[in-house]
Amino acid sequence: MSISSPSTEQGQVYQNFIGGEWRNSRSGETFTSTNPAHTSEVIGLYQRSTADDIEDAVEAAVKAQPGWAAIPAPERGEILLRTALLLEQQKEELAAQMTREMGKILKETRGDVQVAIDVAKYVAGEGRRAEGETIPSALPNKFCMTIRHPVGIVGIITPWNFPLAIPAWKTFPALLAGNAIMLKPASDTPLLSLKLAELLQQAGLPAGVLNVVTGPGGSLGDVLVSHKKVNMISLTGSTEVGRRVAEICGRDLRRCALELGGKNAVIVLEDADLELAVECVTWGAFGTTGQRCTATSRVIVQKSVQRAFTDRLVAAAEKLRVGDGLNPQTDMGPLVNTGRVKAVQGYSEIGKLEGAKLVLGGSPLNEGDYREGAFYKPTIFTDVGPTMRIATEEIFGPFVSIVPVVSYEEAVKVANSTEYGLSTAIFTENTRLTFRAMRDIESGLVYFNTSTTGSEIQLPFGGMKSSGNGHRELGTSAVEEFSEIKSIFVSYPTRK
Ligand code: NAD
Repeated sequence: MSISSPSTEQGQVYQNFIGGEWRNSRSGETFTSTNPAHTSEVIGLYQRSTADDIEDAVEAAVKAQPGWAAIPAPERGEILLRTALLLEQQKEELAAQMTREMGKILKETRGDVQVAIDVAKYVAGEGRRAEGETIPSALPNKFCMTIRHPVGIVGIITPWNFPLAIPAWKTFPALLAGNAIMLKPASDTPLLSLKLAELLQQAGLPAGVLNVVTGPGGSLGDVLVSHKKVNMISLTGSTEVGRRVAEICGRDLRRCALELGGKNAVIVLEDADLELAVECVTWGAFGTTGQRCTATSRVIVQKSVQRAFTDRLVAAAEKLRVGDGLNPQTDMGPLVNTGRVKAVQGYSEIGKLEGAKLVLGGSPLNEGDYREGAFYKPTIFTDVGPTMRIATEEIFGPFVSIVPVVSYEEAVKVANSTEYGLSTAIFTENTRLTFRAMRDIESGLVYFNTSTTGSEIQLPFGGMKSSGNGHRELGTSAVEEFSEIKSIFVSYPTRK
């Protein structure tokens, strides 16, 4: 069986994966995904699915789930391990496909595939680890323990910026926990989720345990999120969509795990190693063209070093080579689509109107080699006020707002002042301030003397405030996220 049906004049057609089969949508319609570096290049035609396709996929999952849960967890883990090996074999090809599909440079798409490989190996091992705890009873002749139970059917909804890593880091632990899945990837990047289904099938995943349906987030999302047979929704996306999903899940008391937006800050104190801070901000702000949930979007800098820091950052950003991510010389690829170029340009206009000082970029790149792509210049504003829109709203582009402050206390106050709380980094050599910052910063990820990006899969990942709803992915609790915990009490009195 093949992931795609024969190509048409318009391009390669990819199908949904339902009940272990590749199928066209019942709508008979498709949508097109193009390369953001060359927008005339079609990556594929994907199924424009409808509620009927979601219904078919959920039914397939309901049918498959009990059989899957009955397979011993170590055996479920073996399938993930085989998937890791297949991903390793195809790493280069998958990375290149991802670069063509969403634009980020090869070094980063290789990293995206590597995350999927690492998570598969890590979670595979969970199949052989303790499934619960034994806990002493307060009463004589009584034995107490906890065991895990699958949640049942999990609806997974993913964004376009990590086309393989995020679907993988949700899917693998959900599978290990004995659940069946209905996965809906973002419409800018459906290919890698379909590839993931293909590899899991090759690794031995039974039919119906993972189903992938492509199509519009609004209509399909609403159907999936409100489906009575779906027991849990796991969404990574914008805070706006997260709020809507949480409202719908709340009505039915459906479990819902949300990983949402950020407005991540780097704090640069006057004793910081400025060279290191500049290097890390350049990578944190312009890596993935600023389209990471953990991207550095604000730099809160002590006034005494504002000038020195800003000059060095501008010099470093000016050197970045913008272009097609497939070219090994490129440092920064395009935005994911031309709509995002307009959105980022809107923020450059807002920054100027708000009275911030533009020191680099501030406009699209659209001439010569850039003519056919969604390119934007690395952009830096300084003298940004902490309440300006460019200092408080998620921009999701190669755009940094430098906010001057006088003290550590003011820096923390500004860092904590947005609605988000995903990732914060602090550059200082001062041990006392380091420990105070561990306590004071309101975000799920706190880094010292390194970038706001760069989490590791064996640590929990997630945000505070409007960056999520308190769940954590990855790390030691990855499988627990997708499990119910049952407390068991066994009494064995001595009287007959
Ligand atoms: P998005 O919210 O527009 O879309 C995310 C997914 O939700 C897509 O699959 C989309 O089709 C779907 N969707 C859209 N409307 C829906 C609805 N009404 N109901 C259900 N699903 C719906 O986000 P995006 O543009 O794909 O990704 C960028 C956003 O994701 C940014 O805000 C970024 O910060 C966030 N993000 C967060 C993390 C994290 O771990 N915290 C990681 C990556 C991205």
